[in-house]
Amino acid sequence: MAKRQQADNGSTATTYGFQTEAKQLLKLMIHSLYSNREISLRELISNASDAIDKLRFRAIENPELVADDAEYAITLRFDKDAGTITVQDNGIGMTRQEVIDHLGTIARSGTAEFLAQLTGDQKKDAALIGQFGVGFYSAFMVADEVEVLTRAAGTDECTRWRSRGEDSFTVEDAADLPRGTSVILHLNEKSKEFADGYRLRSIVRRYSDHIGVPVRMPKESHEDGESDAEELETVNSARALWTRPRTEISDDEYKAFYKHVAHDFEDPLTWSHNKVEGKLEYTSLMYVPKRAPFDLWNREAPRGLKLYVQRVFIMDDAEQFLPLYLRFIKGVVDCNDLPLNVSREILQQDERVSTIRSALTKRALSMLQTLADKQPDDYRTFYQQFGEVLKEGTGEDFANREAIARLLRFSSTRHLGSDDAKNARVSLDEYLERLVEGQEHVYYLAADSYEAAASSPHLEVFEDRGIEVLLLHERLDEWMMGNLHEYKGKSFQDVTRADLVLPGESKDEQRKDDAADEPLGKRIAEVLGERVEKVRRSKRLKDSPACLVLGEFALGPQMRRIMEAAGQSLPESKPQFEYNAEHPLVARLANESDEQRFRELVLVLFDQASLAGGMPLADPAGYVERMNRLLLELLPE
Ligand code: ADP
Ligand code: MG
Repeated sequence: MAKRQQADNGSTATTYGFQTEAKQLLKLMIHSLYSNREISLRELISNASDAIDKLRFRAIENPELVADDAEYAITLRFDKDAGTITVQDNGIGMTRQEVIDHLGTIARSGTAEFLAQLTGDQKKDAALIGQFGVGFYSAFMVADEVEVLTRAAGTDECTRWRSRGEDSFTVEDAADLPRGTSVILHLNEKSKEFADGYRLRSIVRRYSDHIGVPVRMPKESHEDGESDAEELETVNSARALWTRPRTEISDDEYKAFYKHVAHDFEDPLTWSHNKVEGKLEYTSLMYVPKRAPFDLWNREAPRGLKLYVQRVFIMDDAEQFLPLYLRFIKGVVDCNDLPLNVSREILQQDERVSTIRSALTKRALSMLQTLADKQPDDYRTFYQQFGEVLKEGTGEDFANREAIARLLRFSSTRHLGSDDAKNARVSLDEYLERLVEGQEHVYYLAADSYEAAASSPHLEVFEDRGIEVLLLHERLDEWMMGNLHEYKGKSFQDVTRADLVLPGESKDEQRKDDAADEPLGKRIAEVLGERVEKVRRSKRLKDSPACLVLGEFALGPQMRRIMEAAGQSLPESKPQFEYNAEHPLVARLANESDEQRFRELVLVLFDQASLAGGMPLADPAGYVERMNRLLLELLPE
């Protein structure tokens, strides 16, 4: 909804309303990030550097774009009296339409849903907004009014954008601008302190030293900080961070660079910086974020590394350098051997790219392993945020399956009864250290919730014999176990399956067991009929009278749910019924000669076994009636 009015210079100024999401984000930023106002300068310098990167790339094919000024730079000026700061770049600039699109809306999909989660609680919101990336709108944290003057490279179209950061902004034609963009901040009362040479220099060094473009400021000609507009000096080191030797880079510099490449507000958890020489030459710098972005599960969300070729920026989000399950990794890859005009299509097919990709994948996994070994608390944070994504790797990346499995963490019966049982995790290596004698399997149980897993009757024999069982209760777990098969020579065994083999037993013995027909089993089978595939005496129960188990190849409940949700119609799978002959209830059942009563009791046991296994009852009302009949018999009239 644009409103036209005559501007002072005779051209037409048009007023636009900010997109709702942009308006919300803007407000939120001002309120929740107030104590971090310095970062607004970091963001503007970061944008200036991005704009120069983009132009440098375009100029490879089209050198006349930079014929007017080939010396890329960012210039920072201030005017103490006027209370302004200007961030100028000679980068790609924006056309009028781009100004309207980029500085008035947020194009990222899922933004509205994301904003709807915000609570109004400053601390929580600040963290959320970090996930989003703060960007241009952070300028309004320090400024009452922001002005943008811009001319897109290769055009004459000069545009001026202005806003007070409330509901609207104004766009009008401007005259005779140099190539690129100037952002002028009219500082608010509380931020006037930033219009100061010393302060600005220290901000640039702190946040923007790593940028591969010089950031220049007017030389300080007087002690009191009066600036001389004519003479400029470079105030950052202006070398792209990843091109410097590791030993010369401080942690703070690595962190500052991370915020620039990842558009993140928080520090990363860890990083890995490597230079590879030889047949293929490339440098990579990969980071693990502390927090998952809000669109981690959106398949369309941008992902991948920032690609440079011989120091020249080529593209954001080059997703060909890492597999999908490592999509949370941020960073840079700079290759010497690729052509500058490389496109996404070429990347897709290039053999060099796939060589680099497998090396980077290994490197990323070993960075995570080091994090797990050296900073277990940070690894826990990582796993909470990205564990579910990592699990995808078990199906995607056969070559690295063991390295991925080593990074997995599980709830376990080992922690049952401890204070934080639900959140405590074990690794497979830890599990292997605790095998009992003769144990050939890693035992696990998958259920819909931790509580259901932890209270399953299937665990009884394991508890009795002191054997640890992994408790799987997250969305992808059952699917993942189908991919894993084994770890370090020990195969995985689902303890709810009919073919359970306990330490010290062999499969043959188990078959023999199976075949042993008991009269009680036969009687029960007659009652249950079509409801079950098989009835047999259990060896896994200690305290419960009965349980249901799945056939060796039957689909587990989690997988069944996932596939049904995806619209697949699945054949019905029948459970097997196992009874605990030692249980007093079952022992008395065996002596029950009244067939009708026997039948009632067996049906109750069957329903109870379903309930204990977290499965819905086929006929809940029937169960309640039966129970009530039995209860009535117990109570005297
Ligand atoms: P981001 O940098 O994460 O894309 P920002 O909010 O910082 O998000 O910027 C929004 C968009 O505005 C940028 O993607 C870019 O298209 C445009 N933009 C901002 N600053 C500049 C600039 N100095 N030169 C050219 N374009 C810019
Ligand atoms: Mg930005």
